[in-house]
Amino acid sequence: MPRLVSPPLDLPDFVPGSVWLVGAGPGDPGLLTALALHALANADVIVYDALVDRRVLALKHAAAALDYAGKRGGRPSAQQEDISLRLVRLAREGRRVLRLKGGDPFVFGRGGEEAIALKRAGVPFRVVPGITAAIGGLAYAGIPATHRDVNHSFAFVSGHGAGGSLPGEVDWQALSRAAPTIVVYMAMGHLADVAQRLIAAGRGSDEPAAIVSKATMPEQSVVETTLARAAADAASAQIEAPAMLVVGPAVKLRQGIRWFD
Ligand code: SAH
Repeated sequence: MPRLVSPPLDLPDFVPGSVWLVGAGPGDPGLLTALALHALANADVIVYDALVDRRVLALKHAAAALDYAGKRGGRPSAQQEDISLRLVRLAREGRRVLRLKGGDPFVFGRGGEEAIALKRAGVPFRVVPGITAAIGGLAYAGIPATHRDVNHSFAFVSGHGAGGSLPGEVDWQALSRAAPTIVVYMAMGHLADVAQRLIAAGRGSDEPAAIVSKATMPEQSVVETTLARAAADAASAQIEAPAMLVVGPAVKLRQGIRWFD
């Protein structure tokens, strides 16, 4: 019989008229923080993204309203400016507003833009970090983000710029020299291009790579491949979003660590 622990955590009040910008983690509801659970239990309205797992939303207070602000490639989606304005308006109506995002709100999640808008509008807010996809997803995939034999640095990169193409300011040359382990978020649309840039920057075409899809969810899948074959293998495995690309020798350690699937 598991022991039920109810720690006497002294969590802050969710004050009406304020916004909590909260990371929901990569999927598994067990990876929510105590502050995130507290916010779900106390929010009046939850403005959430497409990446937030249904099982996480199910933990909300029964009376809390759900407000979808998702963005998904191809489908009509709320503009970032509209979302920030909506948060300000809901807070000014005196509600406890939970802005819930997948992973961590400040990692490729536009949380910074929303925080700036709230600050400018004079709306009180709090930022609650979450487990970002690369950290949570690698743990569940059995790929250590660092390992003494393999790397002393790693890099998290976005494979999707503002206009939908690869972000222009990423220095792939410097990146490939500096970080033995590279995790590329939002890379699936440009997988061949990303791999080609890394190879052009000096990484081996036979270097281990993995595509981790739906990490921490029951449908998690991991395709182990190489940099050169990544795009073709992702296509034939019919990888589903969300997914990220992991590059580097650490991928090989998975054989000895794999535990989740
Ligand atoms: N703020 C989020 C990232 C948002 S960008 C975070 O900190 O995790 C969206 C990208 O995150 C996706 O394209 C994918 O690359 C990655 N991602 C998010 N959740 C994921 C999951 N459960 N499995 C694999 N990749 C995920």
